[in-house]
Amino acid sequence: MTKRPVIGITSAYVFHNKFMEGVYTHHDYHKTIAKNGGLPIILPFVQEELAEEMVEQCDAILLSGGEDVDPSMYNQDPHQKLGATIPLRDKVELNIVKAAMKRNLPIFAICRGIQLVNVALGGTLIQDIPSVVKDSIKHSQTVDRSWDTHWVTVEQNSRLANIVGEAAVRVNSLHHQAIDRVADDLAVVAQSADGIIEAVEHKNYQNFFLGIQWHPESMAATDEKMNRLFAEFVKSAKKQFVQ
Ligand code: MN
Repeated sequence: MTKRPVIGITSAYVFHNKFMEGVYTHHDYHKTIAKNGGLPIILPFVQEELAEEMVEQCDAILLSGGEDVDPSMYNQDPHQKLGATIPLRDKVELNIVKAAMKRNLPIFAICRGIQLVNVALGGTLIQDIPSVVKDSIKHSQTVDRSWDTHWVTVEQNSRLANIVGEAAVRVNSLHHQAIDRVADDLAVVAQSADGIIEAVEHKNYQNFFLGIQWHPESMAATDEKMNRLFAEFVKSAKKQFVQ
């Protein structure tokens, strides 16, 4: 049996009632990782101190979507339109990024994930696009999650361009926040027409390190370009144990 690389996926929080409370990750992450040969596991946030040991069990890290990053993580006060935040999730994930980078693991950061890695590396966020960015397009789509609703232009000579193979791609959009000041170590590799940062790469990390503001996991079933992002990510994860 071929060994599958373990892909640790960070999780959001759900509370149904006092009998049902726990962590949550959208099923599309699991399905797309599994389809591309990875073994998806969910990383719950419980204690900051457990982050490093969790990372040691993984061959790659996927930072998933969810709650807004608390602005205290980048030294700002909360905007009126800030959504729900969970500082413990932020702290656990900041530690996960640190531990994963120390081990040089592949990192794929999606939606909240791209925002989290930017904060982890010293950048800041736009706390609410509609109220901060003049003439912004609609980034919080109400149609099905898998539908593409806006364009992004892709930077040539980037890893992203190599994978998608096109200078402009259609993407879905389910975010009201975005990167504001880009961390020094990150390069912007995709933007929407209103100038919102839609993808970043690390300038000198020696492994897969991609941040994507849209949700490729929910497009991968019907869009081969989006699936290739996961194929490349899992391929990088396999290299962790194939010498
Ligand atoms: Mn968008």
